[in-house]
Amino acid sequence: MIFRDPGTLLQHISTARLGWLGVIFLSLMLSATLACGSSSTDGSDASKTAEASALSESSGAIKVVTTVSPITSIVENIGGTKIILDGVVPEGVNSHTFAPAPSVARSIAEADLIVLNGLRLEEPTLEMARANKKQEAVILSLGDQAISKDDWRFDFTFPEANGQPNPHLWPDPMLALRYAELVQQQLAEMDPSNADYYAANLEIFRQRIDELDQGIATAVATIPQVNRKLLTYHDSWAYFALRYGMDVIGAVQPSNFSQPSVKEVAELIDQLNELKLPAVFGSEVFPSDVLETVAKESGAAFVDDLRDDDLPGGPGDPRHSYLGLMLENMEFMIPALGGTVDALADFDPSLVFSGTSTANYPQ
Ligand SMILES: [Zn+2]
Repeated sequence: MIFRDPGTLLQHISTARLGWLGVIFLSLMLSATLACGSSSTDGSDASKTAEASALSESSGAIKVVTTVSPITSIVENIGGTKIILDGVVPEGVNSHTFAPAPSVARSIAEADLIVLNGLRLEEPTLEMARANKKQEAVILSLGDQAISKDDWRFDFTFPEANGQPNPHLWPDPMLALRYAELVQQQLAEMDPSNADYYAANLEIFRQRIDELDQGIATAVATIPQVNRKLLTYHDSWAYFALRYGMDVIGAVQPSNFSQPSVKEVAELIDQLNELKLPAVFGSEVFPSDVLETVAKESGAAFVDDLRDDDLPGGPGDPRHSYLGLMLENMEFMIPALGGTVDALADFDPSLVFSGTSTANYPQ
């Protein structure tokens, strides 16, 4: 746990509390059993890939493979209609442990550019990319280039001892903009004839990010100071919190993406009772009976709608974008902590270019 104050330990738990712990322990066992039954999903979409491939051959457009959907969306916003874009990590899967199906290798073998978050988020996909890419194809690892090692964040889910920093840079919109700039530079270098197009898309994206950034800052300022604290299940808000002066008091998910231990849960209940937070936050992708039970015990609302890499709606919906992802996260997070998102009421999360892209978002 990354709590600054480790709180009361297990030995201080009252007898009444043990009843709850029993419930929590059972739900831990149940969740573990369910997790064992799940399998990885094939990220390919054969017909769409074939269509994209034919288009690429006829138009000479750059073929880009991306991993998680927020990155696919950022690349889509910059590349627009001028690139052939194929995301490989399906939305709603655990991207931290995702292993691509062998069929993804075909997509990688045809790509000119492979864009990843990096910071060790997508190791199996990176390995597959290195083994299968064309010799001249470029691997662009955004997170590794966007910040220096001095700015890496380590915490409970991503402890320094494991050497893997928290990879969730993109919930900080300014870092997402940095990603977009890196993508624009790379595309312009590989496809100079469309450099002006990529630069124009980046400029509109930059304006949207500025609006989003100012809107979030204004919205966070409406949260009572004492409530500007995040206790989440999945650990994706480290860089966001730093940007907007919020305090991540804890992220519960252990580094192996299992459930927290009974002892850790007991500490959590004590922390929550002390802090009297109005809400704690679960994740769309990682349901947590444990955090829900903990929330109930402490009287906090349990908001399990936050997402870091599962875009709202489906492909074609205006909110199915990085900008829509952040807007919707704010709509869930800010009011739950006692603030308002009025500052974002007119924010436009749709794609910055006109026309239809070929982007493939496996579901
Ligand atoms: Zn994540």
